[in-house]
This record gives sequence, C-alpha cells and structure tokens, in this order.
Amino acid sequence: MNRRKFLQLGALTAPLLTTTKSFAKKLDQTTKPIVISTWDSGMPVNAEAWKILSASGSALDAVEAGAIHIENEINCCVGLGGYPDRDGIVTLDSCIMDHHANCGAVAGIERIKHPVSVARKVMEKTPHVILVGAGAQQFAIENGFILESNTLSNDAQNAYTEWLKKSEYKPVINIENQPAVQAGKKQNGPFAPNFFEDGTANHDTMGLVAMDVKGNLSGAVTTSGMAFKLHGRVGDSPIIGAGLFVDNEIGAATSSGTGEEVIRICGTHLVVEFMRQGYSPEMACKKAVERIVKRDKAKAKTLQVGFLAMNKKGQYGAYAIQKGFVFSVKSNNENQIHSSKYIL
Ligand code: ASP
Repeated sequence: MNRRKFLQLGALTAPLLTTTKSFAKKLDQTTKPIVISTWDSGMPVNAEAWKILSASGSALDAVEAGAIHIENEINCCVGLGGYPDRDGIVTLDSCIMDHHANCGAVAGIERIKHPVSVARKVMEKTPHVILVGAGAQQFAIENGFILESNTLSNDAQNAYTEWLKKSEYKPVINIENQPAVQAGKKQNGPFAPNFFEDGTANHDTMGLVAMDVKGNLSGAVTTSGMAFKLHGRVGDSPIIGAGLFVDNEIGAATSSGTGEEVIRICGTHLVVEFMRQGYSPEMACKKAVERIVKRDKAKAKTLQVGFLAMNKKGQYGAYAIQKGFVFSVKSNNENQIHSSKYIL
C-alpha cells in the first residue's frame, strides 16, 4: 500500500475507530449508582433506595430503606400484611448483606414490622448470621422493635378463609398465566397480582441489589414466604447464598420463587460464581435456572424460580423457569420494569 492510499484509508477508518473506541469505552463504563429489584412492586422500592443512592449514600442503607418501604405496605406479599402460614400465622424471613460479606438474617419471625432492620442488627450487633422464630423476636424486642398485633390484613384474611375451604398447599407458579388474570378477574391491593379473590396466592418476595457511587454492592431480601406453608418452614429468602449473595469483587444476586429449589442449588451463590467465570448477569442467571430444570424437568414445569443479578459494572440481567418473572431497575439512565427471559 502506498502512502497516499494509506492516508486515504486512514481518513476513512478514523471515524470508525473513534466510534469503536467510544463504543468500547461505553461498554467499559460502570453504571452507578443503580438498584435492581424483583417484580414490578420493585418500582417504589427502587425509588426509596434511590433517594439514598442519588445522595451518595451507601448501598447498604439503600437496600434496607427499599425493603422497609415494602414491609410498610399492608396489602403486600411481604411484611405483616402478607399471607399467613397454614396455621393462620404470618411469619417473616429476611436477610441483608454488604460489600464486606457481613450478613445478617431472621427467619420465621412473628409480629415484627421490619425484619430487614432486625437482620441488619443481627449483622451489626451479634457474632451470628441467622436468628429464628422466638429467639429472633426476643432479640428484636431487646433492640427496641415493637411487638405488633397478630391480626391478618383484610386481604390476607380473605385469602386464608378461602384457602381453608380446601386447605391444599399448591403454590401458584406463574401468576401471569393464571386463569384469574387471563379472565381479567378483579384483584385487590396496590400490588394486585398477589391477591386474588379466589384465594390463590403468588410468591412475590422482594429481593434487591444496589451499587452505590463508590461502586460497593449490597443486597436485601424480605418476604412472608410461600403462602400457607407449614408453620416453621423457612425458604431461600433469609439464607445467604440462596435468596441473596453479594461478592463485592464480582457482583450480587437475589431470587424469588419456590425457595426449596433455590436452596438445593445454593442459587444466588451459584449465579455469582457463574459471573466470576465471566458470564454476563443474564447468562449466569440462565445457567442457574438450567441447573434446576435439568435435574427434574417435569417438576420444574410446576415451579417458578427467577434469579436477578448485577455485576460490578452495573450490568444486570435475570432469568426464570417460567414466563412471568419481572424486575425493576433504577439508575441515572432508566427507571423501568423489565420482563425476564425464561426457559420453559
Ligand atoms: N422465595 C420465597 C420462599 O420460598 C417465596 C417467594 O419468592 O415469594 O419463601
């Protein structure tokens, strides 16, 4: 190639190189702060977390604030307004984890409005990670939490009364495909998909993960667990590595769905490990879901599990067994609900 041709080619390729360069730079850019959360009920949760993140607050404070917000919603699936177990008792599970791998959790706690804050106290004030049942409640009261009434919310009472007619434990796998939704049946409450007049229940755990302006990750999960579960049953939500896992070098993940299946594969730990191997958040979630499906496809057809993950660049992704898992994202670039891809 002579010099003239080389210069001509150079002139032609220069803009291309610049574009490629700026594209590469864009890919390399980290989106922060950012918060992602399970389900569409994550939108107000993210808004609450964003108040802290956008004021340069910590991801830990942000995820706790988000979880507190939804625990306050009386007609929601998490917190004291959630569905009871088969004995008519609301028992709550929650955990929290920060960028130093500090973590705390409570399981099967009753009559305490903000299990996520108790979980944070377990993390900060004790040498332990999980407190359960009466012990968790005792610890909460000792730390200034108020013992609330054990009355069910109206929605939960109606659903429970309906459920008692058959007393069948049959988790609803995928709310968007339910006949009640397809028939446009009236739903109750601000987080409507969780509450059906016919007493069917959805699993809508709130799991959220945030990265703050410093690039530190934290996560929190809060739930009343599977509706009409056996008294004493603990799901994945308060289990570190199942319902939530944070590794500040790599990323963080949370989950919603049939907790037993998530526990069996140490779900969120697995997702983070897949990200460590170089998979994108979405692919990491997909591979974890595949692990569940591969073991027993017929069983997986009757279940829903969704994983949601974020890496250190603020890239995020989700994957579920079934159609219907959605998640909410808030950053400087967006504020919206996304539908997760699914396998079956
Ligand atoms: N994962 C929760 C549990 O098993 C349920 C849910 O996601 O709603 O308790």
